[in-house]
Amino acid sequence: MVKATNLGFPRIGLQRELKRAVEAYWDGRISRADLEEAGRELRRRHWLVQREAGLDIIPSNDFSFYDQVLDMACTVGAVPDRYRLGIGGADSGGGTGGDAGGSIDLDVMFAMARGTAGNGLAPLEMTKWFDTNYHYIVPELAPGQRFSLAGDKPVAEFREAQDLGITTRPVLVGPLTFLWLSKPAQAGQAGGGHEGAPLALLDNLLPVYGELLQRLAGAGAQWVQLDEPILALDLPQEVRSAFPRAYEALAGAAPGLKLFLATYFGDLGENLDLALDLPVDALHLDLVRGPGQLDRALARGVPSQLSLSLGVVDGRNVWRTDLDRALTQVERAAAALGPDRVLVAPSCSLLHVPMDLALEEDLDPEIRSWLAFAQQKLEEVVIIARGAGQGRAAVAAQLAENAAALEAFRSSPRRHLPQVQERVKALRPEDSRRTVPLAERRRAQREHLGLPRHLPTTTIGSFPQTPELRALRAQWRRGELSTAEYEAALRVEIDRVIQLQEMLGLDVLVHGEPERNDMVEYFAEQLQGFAFTGHGWVQSYGSRCVKPPILYGDVARPKAMTVDWITHAQSRTAKPVKGMLTGPVTIMQWSFVRDDVPRAEVCRQLALAIRDEIADLEAAGIRVIQLDEPAFREAMPLRRDQWDEYVDWATECFRLATAVVAPETQIQTHMCYSEFNNIMDAIIALDADVLLIEASRSKMELLDAFQGFKYPADVGPGVYDIHSPRVPPVEEMAELLRKAVAVLPVGQIWVNPDCGLKTRRYEEVQPALRRMVVAAQMVRAELAGEKAGD
Ligand code: GLN
Ligand code: ZN
Repeated sequence: MVKATNLGFPRIGLQRELKRAVEAYWDGRISRADLEEAGRELRRRHWLVQREAGLDIIPSNDFSFYDQVLDMACTVGAVPDRYRLGIGGADSGGGTGGDAGGSIDLDVMFAMARGTAGNGLAPLEMTKWFDTNYHYIVPELAPGQRFSLAGDKPVAEFREAQDLGITTRPVLVGPLTFLWLSKPAQAGQAGGGHEGAPLALLDNLLPVYGELLQRLAGAGAQWVQLDEPILALDLPQEVRSAFPRAYEALAGAAPGLKLFLATYFGDLGENLDLALDLPVDALHLDLVRGPGQLDRALARGVPSQLSLSLGVVDGRNVWRTDLDRALTQVERAAAALGPDRVLVAPSCSLLHVPMDLALEEDLDPEIRSWLAFAQQKLEEVVIIARGAGQGRAAVAAQLAENAAALEAFRSSPRRHLPQVQERVKALRPEDSRRTVPLAERRRAQREHLGLPRHLPTTTIGSFPQTPELRALRAQWRRGELSTAEYEAALRVEIDRVIQLQEMLGLDVLVHGEPERNDMVEYFAEQLQGFAFTGHGWVQSYGSRCVKPPILYGDVARPKAMTVDWITHAQSRTAKPVKGMLTGPVTIMQWSFVRDDVPRAEVCRQLALAIRDEIADLEAAGIRVIQLDEPAFREAMPLRRDQWDEYVDWATECFRLATAVVAPETQIQTHMCYSEFNNIMDAIIALDADVLLIEASRSKMELLDAFQGFKYPADVGPGVYDIHSPRVPPVEEMAELLRKAVAVLPVGQIWVNPDCGLKTRRYEEVQPALRRMVVAAQMVRAELAGEKAGD
């Protein structure tokens, strides 16, 4: 019979109970036992929900108090020594460990994730999980790292479910993905694929995985799920060839146990054959991202011991599945392999979608009828499995309802704005090209803006979101403050921020973004084509959740979005105030996006809306406009052969939004916290006048990328790390500027912090910006002195 299964369930809880419990524990408001009870309760509820949905095989160990990669590191004992010492709990047994002595304490795990206040330990690095907005903790592995089974979380949670009468399939991060995502403790150590992924440690690691599998089998597990999403990446040959070796070892370690190898986030491409030949019992393929994989696998031949799990329900987006189409794929597989060798599943873990649409009582019913969150997706999986196993007649009513809903979705007039579609069709290449080359524009702008000859200073946009501001917004949202009162209070705040910047001596000012809670939601709320959920939370990292807007239809801008705020700010100063906007790629990347038209098309529509806003700002006398694209790098496809296509339309959209302005109007952009080295061409192709970029944490290492490339535009490499409360000394920032001066043409350098200041406090921001301005003045004077001495 075709089975229904799931790869992972959201763990945050319907009311974000996990966030509340974990944060309360960190603040000392609840005990360790309370926290563990909260975890147990969430796991229990989520297993029961999945059983009620009718799944045949339910995952376990997909729960985590922080992050599943960090859990895996703790389970195999990959805990750097500095975190074991000084916490006082490393060997205290704790509640999670059944292994006296060796078990990693929960507080040690949290210290790795968040650092410690007492002895000032920095946390491990955190980075994006493939192309999602989920962040995992990067395990740090010492040269020659030894591993040992240091936690029994997978076994304990398996037993917990057993007690409820549910035999789960425990989920583990596979050993090769684990190593690929890890980094060596000291840079330059160890060889390997992913920026020096410590592949050499595989032989140390495999016995520990083997031991864990034996324990799971001993506890009664029939299946174990090993997640190897790296199989959807371009892998070096040495990593590819490590797969058969690793999986032979694992299969040999626990002979009775069945291995379910999960791949997701893309087509396996050249790794498909490799995956099909591994000694495992089931292979999961993401047929949403890689629909062609099924036919290729069937054509090549699926080894007789291997079952296929078909990821036909999108685990990365919120739209209802086309059941007919999904069922057709599953039927094809069942006909070729026999129904007993086919499973139906979401494309990936449901971690990346909100939990339950049923909570969205305030959402427009028509829009609601288009959506499926985690619980609804499981229902879809079950319908598809039943349809494939028992025949379509068994699910005829559901299929008919689904087809009708999708037809209504496709044809809803609310999703289609003919003028917008016409406008995109009528675009000409010159619409995304500025009329005058960069060098000429620079001259015109310097004059127009009256900037200092060297090292003009500015900030990235937001100023601190104070408790008073937050309270104000909450009052307004509750209706205790009229919109007029709220806006008047925001204008007072803007006046204050302008005055402060004048006093500090900054050259290009900002209004401070007090009216924005979020740089994407703020714009989405003012655009046609977006909907918002009340409870659509998705885990971003640890206890942090985001509630992405839902982009369901053609995008249009009914009226100006920012002009009143910016012109108000500009009316208070003679210095230029920047128009401050979020770029089309970032708006798209941080939303759930319709999948019935190509992303390039969605992005062009967004770009046109922003273009109109930029034109309005310019017409209102604004001379500098900043278009932020912090998500530009993370929106890159996982596979290199798809990069060019992405870069082509993404840069075109940025230029489409900005090329509307006159040569003397300056376009700035900002990006942060990404690897820039391999996207320099794309950054040049944006044709922005000024790039403000995060750089201080790497002590300007980033400038190496600019040196090789002769970057044509102005650059503001951040000199002040806004993620730390620390106020850097003048000399430190001056030294970073001297480094920039040594590498970049001096007439092209700007002085600014790394990113927006909204998470900081004025007590830090004010002195830090003052020192930044002084550092700029100091280095300007040095430059003038050198000139004079020549
Ligand atoms: N202008 C935004 C701010 O300053 C940029 C935020 C970001 O880069 N994420 O807050
Ligand atoms: Zn930033």
